[in-house]
Amino acid sequence: MRTIITGGTVVNATGRAHADVVVDGEVITAVTAPGLITEADRRIDATGKYVIPGGIDAHTHMEMPFGGTFSHDTFATGTEAAAWGGTTTIIDFAVQARGTSLLSTLDKWHAKADGNCAVDYGFHMIISEVDDGSLKEMRPCIDAGVNSFKMFMAYPGVFYSTDGDILRAMRRATETGSMIMMHAENGIAIDQLVAQALAEGRTAPVEHGLTRPPELEGEATSRAIALAGVTGAPLYIVHLSARHALEAVAAARNTGQNVFAETCPQYLYLSIEDMAKPGFEGAKYVASPPLRTRDHQADLWRGLRTNDLSVVSTDHCPFCFADQKVLGKDDFSKIPNGMPGVEHRMDLLHQGVVAGEITLERWVEISSTTPARMFGLAGRKGTIAPGADADVVVYDPAATQTISALTHHMNVDYSAYEGMEITGRVEVVLSRGSVVIADGAFHGKPGHGRFLKRDLSQYLL
Ligand SMILES: [Zn+2]
Repeated sequence: MRTIITGGTVVNATGRAHADVVVDGEVITAVTAPGLITEADRRIDATGKYVIPGGIDAHTHMEMPFGGTFSHDTFATGTEAAAWGGTTTIIDFAVQARGTSLLSTLDKWHAKADGNCAVDYGFHMIISEVDDGSLKEMRPCIDAGVNSFKMFMAYPGVFYSTDGDILRAMRRATETGSMIMMHAENGIAIDQLVAQALAEGRTAPVEHGLTRPPELEGEATSRAIALAGVTGAPLYIVHLSARHALEAVAAARNTGQNVFAETCPQYLYLSIEDMAKPGFEGAKYVASPPLRTRDHQADLWRGLRTNDLSVVSTDHCPFCFADQKVLGKDDFSKIPNGMPGVEHRMDLLHQGVVAGEITLERWVEISSTTPARMFGLAGRKGTIAPGADADVVVYDPAATQTISALTHHMNVDYSAYEGMEITGRVEVVLSRGSVVIADGAFHGKPGHGRFLKRDLSQYLL
């Protein structure tokens, strides 16, 4: 089966060109001058459109357990929504429950995902309990293609690791060449601020933001960087939201340390004002770290240009407003933490191109090419080039759309971007050569997506 995508502008991280893209079976076999190869079973006309590598969302949480409930997208619904938005790879988090092993956790997550995903997927591993057993199990996890380990400086009593735990895991990461990912917020201090707020009767959703100030993200980020520096471990700061944290990352990178960071669209477009909306509406925007004041946004965009922020992921973790967010109706600390987003990352970042914040090439780089290299998928994913998997998106930069829960495909009853006007739209999506989105319809199927055994990071300094 040969497919030719003709007449479009092929955009890679390194540049753009008018070219045809030839797909044989599951891989790209040629990127040629327009019209050079004509024989094909299927032709896709991309005239006036961009032809870009499928997006890679390196931070999602499908069916994730949190506070007695589960994030509402399954691997089936979540990966279909991803495909609609031009994302053809997700890297989700397997979550170690305390008292269980890393390998049994991995089995559990394979059981949830295998046979259900519409697009390809990989896993990171969340280490909730640092002991001799889990440290030892990092090696077999790496051999199984799961070589990035997330730890938490937040959520005492749940996921929280002490500095000593973190140091031990980092030492092991250095030995094995793997990566530590960090949720960097000072959870011990935050818990005190939360207790104080509740004692004073402050229970509204906005208090979630006010009790997690940016200083405590900056402090934890600095501490994680120091611990990584002592051990030599590569460090990836997840969902960076605050200028304070960005400054710490930039300073470390200037010394040549292997420190990287991602941000998320919600920190670029939404703010603490959304959490202060009347009634319980603000609960829709409760995630950790919280949305910040608007003045952080310009710094985040600059970080994306200077590469102190190398990746944009979504932290997609949807909880329905009607029956899940409501758990925190009388106590903001009980609102499930997380927001939907996997479907709109490419579109939202394209607004950055439209606004002149980033170039077209940088859009591709932060949403696809760098995540591929960061997480050991280079060559296979993140580029339109011969030999790469044919994960290809035809994107219409002139189309317009309005984001709404009425039309989105995520399995959640609200959108954090309700009513937002978007310039640009995904038109066709190929996942390993198969058309999954075309003509405004989903043509994929659960189980098409394969597990990606990832190599070690290809992005280290
Ligand atoms: Zn997350």
